Amino acid sequence: MTRQAWVNGVYVAAEEAKISPFDRGFLFSDSVYEVTAVYNGQPIDMERHLDRLERSLKELKFGTLPDRKELAQVHRKLIADNGISEGFVYTQVSRGAYGERDFIAPDKPRLTVFLFADSKPLLDVPAAREGIKVVSLPDIRWGRRDIKATGLLAPVLAKTEAKARGADDVWLVGGDGLVTEAGSANAWIVTRQGEVVTRALSHAILPGITRHALFDALSQQGMKIVERSFSVEEAQSAAEAFNTSAVALVAPIVELDGMPVGSGAPGPVTRQIQRLYYQAIGADVAKAAPWAKG
Ligand code: PLP
Repeated sequence: MTRQAWVNGVYVAAEEAKISPFDRGFLFSDSVYEVTAVYNGQPIDMERHLDRLERSLKELKFGTLPDRKELAQVHRKLIADNGISEGFVYTQVSRGAYGERDFIAPDKPRLTVFLFADSKPLLDVPAAREGIKVVSLPDIRWGRRDIKATGLLAPVLAKTEAKARGADDVWLVGGDGLVTEAGSANAWIVTRQGEVVTRALSHAILPGITRHALFDALSQQGMKIVERSFSVEEAQSAAEAFNTSAVALVAPIVELDGMPVGSGAPGPVTRQIQRLYYQAIGADVAKAAPWAKG
């Protein structure tokens, strides 16, 4: 089956999709993106992803927004036409192409909007079952990480370095010694007192949609989330740690900088949070993730 993508209003075979080399997304990373998970053929939290996309575009003063209803329809059609049961939809919006290279942004941009969808197992994957190893590295990213922009060179380098060191992911650490977030996920710990902790929202981190969903899912169970920063040392002596993102969902962390976190295996609170999140996206945990059962 030929994979279908969508560029500026037209469905095309993904391999045939064309974007100008003068596109400001290519020349300047003058563009933003979203990754929406798909489970059981349904986009997960799409409205929140579209909210965040619009916020990113407003913060970067794009001055114009893509048609939200159309984007939602394109999500659904790409999922259906590409036969995606489990996977993701990728959306990128750039400030467009003008046949020149000018730092100054045009007053009225002609946006480039590109979407594609892909199949990918999300739930029953080794990272979720067995946990991941993480190393910490300095956070050298720009100062507006709350905007989901495509300037991703720093996490590309950090994740590549983490892999070279035998790890599965990276935690990025600010100049103050505190963890900002993972390479492409929000970072969490569970303290020995049982507190579920994640960094408060600010310009330093992306307001994760999965993070947001956990606030809803946990509060429905009467569970509290404490928003505060923590260091690598605190995380190493915490009971549990995990990452959250649209495609990693809830990934237990079993090792941090060569030290086991907690027992060195996914802990009971992380398992409970996995179950709550899987239920929130409509999964039958007993069937789809029996290893996460309590
Ligand atoms: N933080 C960063 C830097 C990310 O790139 C991502 C996702 O790609 C996240 C956090 C998690 O956000 P979400 O849960 O919306 O996928």
